[in-house]
Amino acid sequence: MNDLPRIGLGIDVHRLEPGRPCVLGGIRFESATGPIGHSDGDAVLHAACDAVLGAAGLDDLGTLFSDKDPKHRDRASADFCTAAMRLVRERGLRVLSLDAVVETEAPRLAPHRLAMRERIAALFELPVDRVNVKGKTGEKVDAIGRGEALRATVVALLGPR
Ligand SMILES: [Zn+2]
Repeated sequence: MNDLPRIGLGIDVHRLEPGRPCVLGGIRFESATGPIGHSDGDAVLHAACDAVLGAAGLDDLGTLFSDKDPKHRDRASADFCTAAMRLVRERGLRVLSLDAVVETEAPRLAPHRLAMRERIAALFELPVDRVNVKGKTGEKVDAIGRGEALRATVVALLGPR
């Protein structure tokens, strides 16, 4: 069974507040607002970790790295990716592809899309052409449309090493 591909889905929402640093997909954006939350609030990497962990049949990020634990405060989300990949390797698996959608009014992702893809590819140990990142606005609807929050959704395909 372990030789069959496995798909996983991760979704993460963070509130946006003025004056917070904005790190998405491991890339720092110049933005008037940034995500708040535990660690650095990088919703893209959090959703990617959950997608990868889910496909591997492992516990989600919030269970593995509780936000009640002060040692995870302001932690770089890249650390979570490294830890998730260690668990994935232990299961005899690797990431085959990742596809992400980021819904946010700001910042605009387009200028840094390639940099995000490159960073995510490095963190999850796959070629850049197997990682995609798409930006969408909230179309003025709900909290995302009002610029109060952003949401990242990622699907991951895993296969045997
Ligand atoms: Zn998160």
